[in-house]
Amino acid sequence: MTSRPNGEPLVRLSGVNKWFGELHVLQDIDLEIGRGEVVVVIGPSGSGKSTLCRAINRLEPIDKGEITIDGALLPEEGKELARLRADVGMVFQSFNLFAHKTVLENVSLGPVKVRKKSKGEAESRARELLERVGVASQADKYPAQLSGGQQQRVAIARALAMEPKVMLFDEPTSALDPEMINEVLDVMVGLAKDGMTMVVVTHEMGFARRAANRVVFMDGGRVVETAEPETFFTSPTSDRAKDFLSKIL
Ligand code: ADP
Ligand code: MG
Repeated sequence: MTSRPNGEPLVRLSGVNKWFGELHVLQDIDLEIGRGEVVVVIGPSGSGKSTLCRAINRLEPIDKGEITIDGALLPEEGKELARLRADVGMVFQSFNLFAHKTVLENVSLGPVKVRKKSKGEAESRARELLERVGVASQADKYPAQLSGGQQQRVAIARALAMEPKVMLFDEPTSALDPEMINEVLDVMVGLAKDGMTMVVVTHEMGFARRAANRVVFMDGGRVVETAEPETFFTSPTSDRAKDFLSKIL
């Protein structure tokens, strides 16, 4: 894996600031994510990691600064926003599948509605993606009939079905039973190896070591430190990162 692919970054945040009332939750964030790059975002609870992810696809508006995806400025609203948002796949801690739709429908409905694919085309692509994440045999079941790990893999397939340019993962394994964490992380490592651009909020060091090009450490709404995974985990430079790592390692 090349650590910094050439060319215009796929995602660029410049001078991004956001407040929730008095709380300055994102403070002067400058961050560039290159094509094919995998960035792990790590930091204490409340440091702004989820808000950062949500800002990247405008689920949260920002108060100051700029965010571009593939060179295009994120618009405030409207059709253009829907199109750009479809370029950003998102996987959350809670799997967020449609409970009353089958696995196959969960993965194939978005492309029909947003990407204007035919039902047949969307379903055959959905089956390929379910195969890729290892749940092809569950296609006709409902989410509640699947384990947490299977549901999260379906959620990944659903995001991929929209053919996003970048995938955001916000603590995708924190709601899973321990024995299911690796089956989800393995799918994510596979995606990284296939060249997907990824922003992953996780405290799973194993994933960071296996797949990340960079670790971004956040604290108090700021990016405090950025480093290659090995460097970050073995010799963090900031006191805040040292303190955080001493608590989780
Ligand atoms: P993290 O994901 O790193 O735990 P978050 O981005 O979820 O952090 O939250 C950052 C801070 O913003 C926290 O103090 C949180 O309580 C606050 N916060 C998050 N969402 C909202 C909201 N919708 N309204 C007000 N405060 C919020
Ligand atoms: Mg969070």
